[in-house]
Amino acid sequence: MIHEQSIREILNSLDKKEYSCRELVDHFIARASDANASLNAFITDTYETARNEADHMDMLRSNGTAPSLAGIPIAHKDIFCARGVKTTAGSLMLDNFVAPYSATVVEKLSAAGTISIGKTNMDEFAMGSSNENSHYGPVKNPWSEKVVPGGSSGGSAAAVAARLCVAATGTDTGGSIRQPASMCGITGIKPTYGRISRWGMIAYASSLDQAGPMTKSAEDAAILLNIMAGYDEKDSTSAEQPVPDYTKCLNEPLKGLKLGFCKEYFGDGLDPKIEIAIQTALRQFEAQGAEIIEISLPSSKHAIPAYYVIAPAEASANLSRYDGVRYGYRCETPVDLADLYKRSRSEGFGDEVKQRIIVGSFALSAGYYDAYYKKAQQIRRLIKNDFAQAFEQVDLIIGPTTPSTAFNLGEKTSDPISMYLQDIYTITSNLAGLPAGSFPVGMEAGLPFGLQIIGNYFDEGRILNLAHQFQLESDWHRLTPEATA
Ligand code: GLN
Repeated sequence: MIHEQSIREILNSLDKKEYSCRELVDHFIARASDANASLNAFITDTYETARNEADHMDMLRSNGTAPSLAGIPIAHKDIFCARGVKTTAGSLMLDNFVAPYSATVVEKLSAAGTISIGKTNMDEFAMGSSNENSHYGPVKNPWSEKVVPGGSSGGSAAAVAARLCVAATGTDTGGSIRQPASMCGITGIKPTYGRISRWGMIAYASSLDQAGPMTKSAEDAAILLNIMAGYDEKDSTSAEQPVPDYTKCLNEPLKGLKLGFCKEYFGDGLDPKIEIAIQTALRQFEAQGAEIIEISLPSSKHAIPAYYVIAPAEASANLSRYDGVRYGYRCETPVDLADLYKRSRSEGFGDEVKQRIIVGSFALSAGYYDAYYKKAQQIRRLIKNDFAQAFEQVDLIIGPTTPSTAFNLGEKTSDPISMYLQDIYTITSNLAGLPAGSFPVGMEAGLPFGLQIIGNYFDEGRILNLAHQFQLESDWHRLTPEATA
């Protein structure tokens, strides 16, 4: 089946003229338009431009000037500006916003020849862990429509899991690539902070936000990361580090690799089935020559409170630009300027976003800055130090991605603490700026879950290699909701 093929296989098939880019894109458009009414994975489709681009790529292919990924159908999380396309960040605030320029990520992937078939659904301004905070309604998990796909990149995860596109982009501020990847049974990697340009990516918490690929396999993720990564003069926080060819990192033997087993990640709060699956994976890595070393990350227990001060604080500043004046939602018949600001923001933002703006403004206010924001930053430093110590002993750290498999729609919406606890294993790598990926490692009661690999700065290649070695020996990443239905 075309939609089960890897990027490399598709490129081979296109080279051998088994099908054209147009046929390929039409195949995915047909799947997406069939499935979207029930999954709600897309906010906007770009089928028309996708078809035209596919014809163009066929022409470039026939005259030998096609770029490296010519014809690969993808989708972008609706947080990336795409010129001429509605870009909402899942919010009513931006429901009428047509981006006048494209994000660097969008531009790079398009220059490489990928074709976007649509913009995927997400939690409003990427705040959430279940996709239930989207103004455009929740996304359903393709494995079971009763459960959430995770969030905030739930639309991208559901679209890749249901094979509505070959791959998708996501963003991860506290887990939003890895947690939905885990819950939908796909591969996702959040690279080192600064590895990928944030230019044109609608800001949530700027010191934590990072884009990354969401794919069927580690190999596909390496191929996309090759394109997405790199310095961008438009983003002063992007790193001026050379980009390795990540696909060349995928054939390293595991012999001698030191894997950290973080004791704080296991035990209380973790579904025992997930722990067993991770232990099984560790035994497999050991059999392939890796050494397992117990490590400790003692400050991890403070990560959630620290994150839920820092992220809202940054969000409260970033979201102050939505004032009803320059662009975005404006209330009807304002009586004066104060009324315009107040009602545009009250009506344009959803509840979770408003709650975070309030918490963030409070934490940054003169009287409470030291007690909350400064404390949270101190915890952030302790977390970074823990990792620095751990990486003196090991090359990669292994753990769960999520405490459980996907939960039921509506189950946690009235319990923010339990929703925030979803991020317990993912948030620390954002606070430290480290790269981390999630890869399918098991199933429980028909729902997939992932294993998380955290690496040292700019060590994405090693994370992807470990996942690839695992995927060479296992089939978890090949399971699909269709095949197992
Ligand atoms: N669930 C976390 C939050 O709500 C992380 C979201 C994200 O990574 N964008 O902030």
